[in-house]
Amino acid sequence: MTVQTEFITLEDLVRGEVFDPSDRGYAAEAAAFNAAVAHCPDVVVAARDAADVVATVRWASLNSVPLHVQATGHGAERAMTGGVLLSTKRLRSVAIDPHARTATVGAGTRWREVIDAAAQHGLAPLNGSSSDVGVVGYTLGGGLPVLGRTFGFAADSVVSFEIVTMDGDARTVSRTREPELFDLVAGGGHGLVVVTAVTFRLYRVAQVYGGALVFDGAHSASVLRAFAAWSRTLKDASNTAIRFLRAPDAPDVPRELAGKLTVHVSFAHVGPGGEKALAPMRAAAPVLLDAVGVLPYTEIDRVYSDPETPMPFLSGGTGIVDLTEAAIEAVLAAVGPDAATVLPLVEFRLLGGAMASDAGRTVSAHGLAYAVHAVGVLAPPIADLVPAALEGLLAALRPFGNGRGPRNFLGGEDPSAGYSEKVNAVLAVAREELDPQGLLRP
Ligand SMILES: Cc1cc2nc3c(=O)[nH]c(=O)nc-3n(C[C@H](O)[C@H](O)[C@H](O)COP(=O)(O)OP(=O)(O)OC[C@H]3O[C@@H](n4cnc5c(N)ncnc54)[C@H](O)[C@@H]3O)c2cc1C
Repeated sequence: MTVQTEFITLEDLVRGEVFDPSDRGYAAEAAAFNAAVAHCPDVVVAARDAADVVATVRWASLNSVPLHVQATGHGAERAMTGGVLLSTKRLRSVAIDPHARTATVGAGTRWREVIDAAAQHGLAPLNGSSSDVGVVGYTLGGGLPVLGRTFGFAADSVVSFEIVTMDGDARTVSRTREPELFDLVAGGGHGLVVVTAVTFRLYRVAQVYGGALVFDGAHSASVLRAFAAWSRTLKDASNTAIRFLRAPDAPDVPRELAGKLTVHVSFAHVGPGGEKALAPMRAAAPVLLDAVGVLPYTEIDRVYSDPETPMPFLSGGTGIVDLTEAAIEAVLAAVGPDAATVLPLVEFRLLGGAMASDAGRTVSAHGLAYAVHAVGVLAPPIADLVPAALEGLLAALRPFGNGRGPRNFLGGEDPSAGYSEKVNAVLAVAREELDPQGLLRP
């Protein structure tokens, strides 16, 4: 197809393919991991290299056309309509520097590729619960890693970004080059700039003591109370979450989990002492499944066992200051064995540790003890009930928060949700300066 504006076609400018809605390949290129979302931009650019990204940004800016960016669509929450969708999924590259202990990756790279490449040097990145997620989208939202209590938010381990601003200027930002902008991109980057590559620190972790303990949902109250008390005592080496899972009664679901409520304590401990640290939870109630042991870092996905295939979902989250008795009662009422919820997964991930600092960075879990993340499946017959169920859960938990939460877990329409007022004010000024036409969509 030919998309022509001001006598310059996009095809003239980029090496990658350009699709309009009538082209074969348009739907596949625009498809998101969240299968509930069907993007319908006017045109999709399948960028082949960083030069394609720069050319597309310049074209959008010159022609005042809204610009959307997508790598994997794990963060897709609403359909993009109109404008140009810049698809970065072909910009996959990983370069490990084992001496500097850094990785430099292209904008379309997923965590799986980094984990496998880094493991060859006994190193690990700060990926989240699913290695299928894209590195850049995750990091621009702060990145709450499986090992976050031990090493901090992923955004805080970034060394530099290769960015393109909406005026088409491509450059490197780091702690020494435009440090204010670097700080904003690292954790507040959605809808601020377009990133073509990122360099970040890796850590000497070849294995963890990790996995999940599973309890029958009938023990929800005792397990949650034990978790609340135990998780307050954990050292930074221990990372954990409690998850309330209502798995469908389907052939591919393990029999112990199918068609009922189970409570999962996900755990990942770095260094010696993991078994001892987990012992109080093993004693909290009869354990239905014990899948915790020494895991090579390449198997880190087993800590959370997130879905790997695209599915239609709606997710949202918030932060919790403490799991007080009142908060525990609220959680049990919302997701415990007697709750009539349609939400299959509600998670409370322990924050603190290296994420607790309030050093003025864009992303901070300062003052929050847990990140809440809830997921609803938008499939019949319950699809229509999911939005209200999600809103009801978050409303019930909000009294126990402080209005903030990790951006990547919050979902929703409001890109400013989760950040402090101060950070939002700085972000608003930066967006106005960098994108005065307001073309780059979060
Ligand atoms: C199963 C699952 C597990 C998850 N686990 C975690 C977790 O443990 N911790 C955590 O922090 N988050 C987690 N997330 C949330 C995830 O990190 C965010 O949804 C993230 O934004 C996804 O990034 P992506 O690039 O894969 O997705 P996309 O939907 O492709 O992108 C997400 C956002 O990033 C922007 N973006 C992507 N690439 C670029 C670029 N090159 N330049 C500028 N903007 C860009 C997009 O415009 C969009 O706003 C999880 C999500 C899922 C679905």
